[in-house]
Amino acid sequence: MDVKEIVVISGKGGTGKTTLTASLIPYLENTVVADCDVDAPDLHILLHPRLTRTREFIGTKKATIFSEKCCGCGNCINHCQFIAISPAFIVNHLKCEGCGVCELVCPIEAVSLHDVVVGNIYEGETPYGPMIHAKLVPGEETSGKLVSEVRNRAREVAIERGCSNVLIDGSPGIGCNVISSITGASIVLIVTEPTLSGLHDLKRVMDISERFSGKTYVVINKYDLSLDLSEQIEQESNRRGHSVILRFPFHKNIVKAVTEKNIPSLSEKKLFEKARWEDFLRKISDGVKV
Ligand code: SF4
Ligand code: SF4
Repeated sequence: MDVKEIVVISGKGGTGKTTLTASLIPYLENTVVADCDVDAPDLHILLHPRLTRTREFIGTKKATIFSEKCCGCGNCINHCQFIAISPAFIVNHLKCEGCGVCELVCPIEAVSLHDVVVGNIYEGETPYGPMIHAKLVPGEETSGKLVSEVRNRAREVAIERGCSNVLIDGSPGIGCNVISSITGASIVLIVTEPTLSGLHDLKRVMDISERFSGKTYVVINKYDLSLDLSEQIEQESNRRGHSVILRFPFHKNIVKAVTEKNIPSLSEKKLFEKARWEDFLRKISDGVKV
């Protein structure tokens, strides 16, 4: 079964990425929702899923030296490329990358690697369908792997439930977790704001989207705060072959809905011409309620 992945990203946090994702959900049928912003997930705060499954995600390994066995030969220190082992043969887990070289070179099996839980994955049901999200353990760095796991599970659930879409609240920025969020996706929606930094971040994140995913569209949040910069964003997007598919204005009802932990209703607040909103939904999705 063909599952369309629609991913919403932004060049930095706080540009309205989650607001747009949430506002789309009531209009998409047969859709699994996934929050891949694993460093700071917040879509579940608006959707209030009833959790049906929670599991730990093992994302890396760390070495431990057993001092009672260690003969002090120094092989592990000499071969560790990450300088993670102290002269007293204690592994610094903040530096250890879990490569396993120390275990290989130890002549008497005084080192072993153990699994490390880097996050938790949550599955649940919302009034709109299934939702998958995850939280990275604070201080852990393997968010790209956790993002991939969330995406893979969302696709599995979509196939199991006969859903045609997976809507993903992607990671902000331009790091590896963003690449994990969008690689191979059918459609990427980049949310930006009409500021100089917004334009700069948009260019950087478009570079990534062009390389790793399918069709890219741009959405301008709070476009009315600077019509001049909105125009520049539109020109830059057109120049690169990515149309600005939607602009939405600054509106107190959007802020109010989010602060009250509700899904903002972008279309019902008469922020757009109805036809434009419906055209936007049709372009990005197969099953649309209009
Ligand atoms: S697993 Fe690799 S990084 Fe960690 S202590 Fe051993 S050699 Fe160093
Ligand atoms: S290689 Fe093994 S025995 Fe040698 S110092 Fe390291 S842990 Fe100890």
